[in-house]
Amino acid sequence: MTGSMKTISGHRGLMLEEPLIFEQGSPEKTAVDLPAPPSPSGGDRLGPVRRERPIGLPGLSEPEVVRHYLRLSQQNYSIDSGLFPLGSCTMKHNPRLNEKLARLPGLGDLHPLQPASTVQGALRLMHTLAHWLTTLTGLPAVAMSPAAGAHGELVGLMTIRAALEDRGDPRRRVLVPESAHGTNPATAAACGYAVQSVPGDARGRVDLEKLRAALSPDVAAVMVTNPNTCGLFENDVRLIAEAAHEVGAFFYCDGANFNAIVGRVRPGDLGIDCMHLNLHKTFSTPHGGGGPGSGPVVLSAALAPFAPVAFVAEENGRFRLVEHGMHADGKPVGRVKGFHGQFGMFVRALAYMMSMGADGLRQASGDAVLNANYILAELQGTFSAPFAGPCMHEALFDDRFLKDTGVSTLDLAKALIDEGFHPMTVYFPLVVHGAMLVEPTETESKRTLDRFIATMKGLAERALAGDEAFFRESPRLSPRRRLDETRAARKPVLRWRPPAETAPEPMETAGEEVGRAAE
Ligand SMILES: *Cc1c(COP(=O)(O)O)cnc(C)c1O
Repeated sequence: MTGSMKTISGHRGLMLEEPLIFEQGSPEKTAVDLPAPPSPSGGDRLGPVRRERPIGLPGLSEPEVVRHYLRLSQQNYSIDSGLFPLGSCTMKHNPRLNEKLARLPGLGDLHPLQPASTVQGALRLMHTLAHWLTTLTGLPAVAMSPAAGAHGELVGLMTIRAALEDRGDPRRRVLVPESAHGTNPATAAACGYAVQSVPGDARGRVDLEKLRAALSPDVAAVMVTNPNTCGLFENDVRLIAEAAHEVGAFFYCDGANFNAIVGRVRPGDLGIDCMHLNLHKTFSTPHGGGGPGSGPVVLSAALAPFAPVAFVAEENGRFRLVEHGMHADGKPVGRVKGFHGQFGMFVRALAYMMSMGADGLRQASGDAVLNANYILAELQGTFSAPFAGPCMHEALFDDRFLKDTGVSTLDLAKALIDEGFHPMTVYFPLVVHGAMLVEPTETESKRTLDRFIATMKGLAERALAGDEAFFRESPRLSPRRRLDETRAARKPVLRWRPPAETAPEPMETAGEEVGRAAE
């Protein structure tokens, strides 16, 4: 390689401007040649059903189509292209073994309506996964069908509501700490409850006294994320459970952060009645654009009879799908998902668990916590941390260190893009000013962490040295630079409109019609 070539950024070469496929092809072209159909009668075989107007689909050759989608895929920063330090999201490596097993024809080619007698292996797989989940959490039952964490929360609160109504004791309020993930209050509101926020204390945890003061016999549930969204373990979790139970409320735990404590703590032992798990966070199934997720909910004995259908039961070594409740006297909340849930994710999660083993899972949670603490310790001298460490699986910083620099948390995140990293989570949790939440996961090597730490320190030093202009201009190397994020959210351009002269008759006019030029 010559010296001059070295100055050309390969990164940039992958970030070609890519027009829409509609702008590249043209409706009058086609990439396939079909022989003229034999027409026995000599007439037009399509007759009156022949299309009168072009439908406006672009014609391109096969290589053009392949290149278009490949280039688009290269614009997508992914967990396979680099460190994804998003906090709260647990962007974890997806082992290829999981993918291989999910594609086995005996699993990948199943039809969800096949008779149970022909899919005994698949049902056994779901039953085995359920066993792992109940064993790891120390809770007796699990509803497997929810499709994501938020869906799991909804199902959890639906079972709580059903259990309370069954007791003849419907209640009106759900208590949620102010540091909660946004899905928690949203779920409680969607279930018809009034949401009451509980303040945190100076240690970044739930303020136990304020929680106790807010409890009363019309509280249906207390929802707590543990480890919480500040990346800290709620040390008072047992006392929170006791306090909730004393007034007859259920204790819901948001288990999206379970990856920090797997194999070390069983939520059932902490007094938790109900908790969703994110297979796509804790157990390495793909998520984020690559979805779909899977959010099974583990349930206490009191909530199990209300679990949604369908689920797998075993009798004398045979497996069947139960469509009418977990017990003879079960009162299921109904069905929350088509068929049996995200079966492909079940395969991946179980492959991950069985290849790791219980000891491996325990080590993974330990390594995740170690990695986060390494980042916290290394960056603490330059960045400001709102709460004293050690942390759990994610390290939280605030923007006090940027005071008077003219540089914001957002500027720093944008500058990180040019350095080849996905930005960390910013401005969440809301309780911390200018928050930066970094979650490295156990799958990142020390070398990668060191590179990230050096980059973060370099940027911070640049900000402290007063190079405000540099940050204003970031990112420079991405295909899109600073977007008007408010406008992008309020007036998204969701529809491409063909140039007027070739416009076919519109088939539907749903959605806001904003031309691409408005970008
Ligand atoms: C990700 C997350 C959720 C929501 O899970 P989804 O699968 O995205 O619906 C809920 N709570 C916490 C703490 C999370 O990190």
